[in-house]
Amino acid sequence: MSAPTPGQFPDSSPVDDKRPPFADMDVESFRHYGHAMIDWIATYLGDVERYPVLSQVKPGEVRAQFSQQAPEEPGSMDALLQQVQTAVLPGITHWNSPNFFAYFGASSSGPGILGELLTAALNTNGMLWKTSPAATEVEELTLDWLRQMLGLPDGFHGIITDTASMSSLLSIAVAREALNLDIRQQGMAGRSDVPRLRLYASEEAHSSIEKGAMALGLGQQGLRKIPTNAEYQMDDAALAAAIAEDSAAGWRPFYVAATIGTTSTTSIDPVPAIAAICRRFGLWLHIDGAYGGVAAIVPEFRHVLAGCEDADSIVVNPHKWLFTPIDCSAFYVRRPDLLRRAFSLVPDYLVTDEAEVTNYMDWGVQLGRRFRALKLWMVISYFGHRQLANAIAGHIRLGQQFADWVDASPRFERLAPAPFSTVCFRAHPQGIDDEAELAALNTGLMEAVNASGAAYLSHTKLRGVFALRLAIGNLRTTYRHVNQVWELLQTALDGLLPPVPPTV
Ligand code: PLP
Repeated sequence: MSAPTPGQFPDSSPVDDKRPPFADMDVESFRHYGHAMIDWIATYLGDVERYPVLSQVKPGEVRAQFSQQAPEEPGSMDALLQQVQTAVLPGITHWNSPNFFAYFGASSSGPGILGELLTAALNTNGMLWKTSPAATEVEELTLDWLRQMLGLPDGFHGIITDTASMSSLLSIAVAREALNLDIRQQGMAGRSDVPRLRLYASEEAHSSIEKGAMALGLGQQGLRKIPTNAEYQMDDAALAAAIAEDSAAGWRPFYVAATIGTTSTTSIDPVPAIAAICRRFGLWLHIDGAYGGVAAIVPEFRHVLAGCEDADSIVVNPHKWLFTPIDCSAFYVRRPDLLRRAFSLVPDYLVTDEAEVTNYMDWGVQLGRRFRALKLWMVISYFGHRQLANAIAGHIRLGQQFADWVDASPRFERLAPAPFSTVCFRAHPQGIDDEAELAALNTGLMEAVNASGAAYLSHTKLRGVFALRLAIGNLRTTYRHVNQVWELLQTALDGLLPPVPPTV
């Protein structure tokens, strides 16, 4: 059978298809709607404060506004944009709002958004160097810039992952690979020659460390949670004792995750002491600096990464506190060769012949990779290190200001030190000392603030005590916004307490 001559195929096809060929949106329509969309985004970013910060929709309300059947026929862009306005927007919680104080603010920025747009337009897959050399080389370059900004020594090699959860999972996998137990080949199940492996993190560490242990077959029991001191920092003496005890009991301790900026209180584990313990026992040291690590780009806060030069791996999240749209997590490892040994698997169809290049597909689980580095490169290039550092230093000052207000108030109290820009506190008016009553009062306070739409706070529990959390990390947050939420808390508290009887 002879090959069809190019250009003749449609005519000789047995399928007589008279429909117009499927085509993308034409270029002029793209230009038109692209401009309209950018206009819309510019207006949105300019007046994001007019939206309720926390979406006020009820479960199911968003979905109910759409047809439940997939559209059979083409739709018009005008109608789609209208639906975004009427059906999607009400269901958006505005992380971009300067009044967003919940969790850790992950605000985007103009250059970050434009970088993300360009990533979608170029639509590269950086699985191999060859499949888009720029995707790989800009990633290497940008992560090296960030490493320098953080004051980390060279010798750390970076890869961008989607989240800190994935970065920390990779760190556990590479630490396990370093044990030379041939787990890659033989697995762990049913092997009498593999000891029970144990890793360590403080009781305040993020749940992603435990999830990583679960995902890698180490089990939740494979993670031993180390107690913390009064300031919620890992107790290094307790760590050393736990490692010694586990070794004597037949476990094989292999990994410690220390946190710079724990999720609830942003406490900083004593990394130099933990690093010394890791050296003494031969354990891998991973630093989870997903939130707090970024503060090290501020020269006066470089000390938060003290001791991290001795770490084996580190994660920081530009999507948390570096104005880069989610998702973008920077994972650094000293031994990328071990990461490759754990994960590289190259079928025939992915063999390429360049030597000396990075093929990022070899560094982790996923094959296909978005060009995430472009948005981070844009953010760092557009703002520059000095301005970014100023913004973060400004957030820390605002956080300290809020902590001072709490400390000075007779009706509120602080529940933890605030080394960065996150404050844990609660209302504690005179005469209310019952813990259950205080928890109910503070839950009501948070709900009142969040239902107002004017600000969004989240909560945590500290040694069983319900705490409000105010985290400042939004690019647009200023003194005015922090002052506003403080006033809002006062007013909302007034509304929850019985009226004070007039004095005669
Ligand atoms: N580590 C810490 C200290 C965190 O606070 C968080 C999230 O807040 C994470 C890890 C998980 O981050 P991600 O959502 O990027 O997985």
